[in-house]
Amino acid sequence: MSDIWIMRIGHRPERDKRVTTHVALSSRALGARGIYVDTYDEVLEQNIRSVAERFGGDYEIKTGVRWQDATRGFKGKVVHLTMYGERVDEALPKIPRDEDIMIIVGAEKVPREVYDRADFNVSVGNQPHSEIAALAIFLDRFTEGKALYSDRHGKLTVVPNERGKTVVENPDRRRMRAASHRRRLQAPGGRPLLHREGRGGGDRLPHRGDRHGPGGRRRLAA
Ligand code: SAM
Repeated sequence: MSDIWIMRIGHRPERDKRVTTHVALSSRALGARGIYVDTYDEVLEQNIRSVAERFGGDYEIKTGVRWQDATRGFKGKVVHLTMYGERVDEALPKIPRDEDIMIIVGAEKVPREVYDRADFNVSVGNQPHSEIAALAIFLDRFTEGKALYSDRHGKLTVVPNERGKTVVENPDRRRMRAASHRRRLQAPGGRPLLHREGRGGGDRLPHRGDRHGPGGRRRLAA
């Protein structure tokens, strides 16, 4: 599957904070690669990056990007979601799967030029509802549900559970943390001791001042 980008237009930081956050989070969860937002919003960027950092994946966000600039050099198809567009079930088979797509969603009134620029103007039903709902339904159909439970290799992974909450730390990260914890325990005065007995590289992490890296020549601290 090619990359899916979102272009959110009409974002007003004071009013649309929550909605745009949810546009980004929903699109990330449903398989998009990243989002452009037309108005600069540093807080929004930080919030979305923080989620992506904890829960994994390659999701990117850039704010302060006009839709004209985002779409100008875009090599792929532009899909505009609007209640006035053609039926989603009729549009979907026409949208190529081997090209990237950029999906534009609005806030209030969308300029006429967006309809003209779009390769596809697509409705998710012809009732007015919400950019979050329209995007979620479109993405789920476009990806055939495949993104929902895909592993993002994040620091945290939620394990589906009939009752209660199960959140596990990624095993790789747990090993890395344990290794760094061991080194700290072995280090009088905070000075790290690297495997004195010449054990294999194992889960040892490279650290500042160790230029050989795991498995390379060791610098043994006294
Ligand atoms: N009149 C607007 C329109 O063109 O769809 C509704 C504005 S709505 C508050 C904000 C955004 O939600 C729209 O710009 C559109 O991207 C999306 N949206 C709302 N209803 C939709 C629908 N039925 N189909 C597709 N997108 C929809």
